[in-house]
Amino acid sequence: MTRLPEPDDLGAVHEPEPDEASPPEAAEVLSEVRRSLEDLLLFEGRWFVTPPDVVAASAAPARPEPAGGEGSAAAEAPVPAAAVLSSFHDEICECTRCPLGQTRNRFVFGSGNPEAGIMFVGEAPGEEEDLQGLPFVGPAGRFLTRIIEAMELSREEVYICNVLKCRPPGNRDPAPEEVATCEPYLRRQIEIVQPKVICCLGRHAAHALLKTEAPLSRLRGTLHEYAGIPVIVTYHPAALLRNEGFKRPTWEDVKWVRRQYDGVEPRGRA
Ligand code: SF4
Repeated sequence: MTRLPEPDDLGAVHEPEPDEASPPEAAEVLSEVRRSLEDLLLFEGRWFVTPPDVVAASAAPARPEPAGGEGSAAAEAPVPAAAVLSSFHDEICECTRCPLGQTRNRFVFGSGNPEAGIMFVGEAPGEEEDLQGLPFVGPAGRFLTRIIEAMELSREEVYICNVLKCRPPGNRDPAPEEVATCEPYLRRQIEIVQPKVICCLGRHAAHALLKTEAPLSRLRGTLHEYAGIPVIVTYHPAALLRNEGFKRPTWEDVKWVRRQYDGVEPRGRA
């Protein structure tokens, strides 16, 4: 059995003088010293040859432990976007920060895939949206569904929302102060969903997101950017119901959206 050295042993170990030990005895002493050093390394580790503070510093983890401690899977796993979005909905669904909170029937948050690659942003809920609490479910919404399906996607694969979450009475245009009050909600939705591309449906959505008052004719055909996300502006589906002539340019715009989503056209328009 290996004998661990006593402190005195270490102090007592020394090279024998030639005249006080025969060669076989010297070999035995050297062998014993080697065994003692091996035992020290085995049981004391690097602390024997390296100061403890140096060992502790070199053994420090490269990345900090997660808040939940070692082995805490919950602490390591990111919170799913669906849960974050749902919690954000619950936080703001009773909002009355602008007068529209008093006149709405239903709060219209948004719908679709919380991790969608494409986000469509309109201006505000209409009559049917206000009754159902869902975005783009009226005649214009049904047209948007057809556009999305023509892009070979479904409504469940994209995310759809509006700048305003409550209906302006009589479907009037959103007032600037209503947009200013509600717009942070849209920005938070974008932050959570993190789409690869945003498609603004109509000038009101584009003006709110891009902080511009340029006419739609100038906003279309240019690849804009919001927080590093490409933004493409096209007609609102309601405008397509009024003017057949907008359908062809809209189709060109949404094909461009699809190419951005597919990552086959990183810059500009083909
Ligand atoms: S429109 Fe927006 S800011 Fe105004 S009450 Fe509705 S959620 Fe709140």
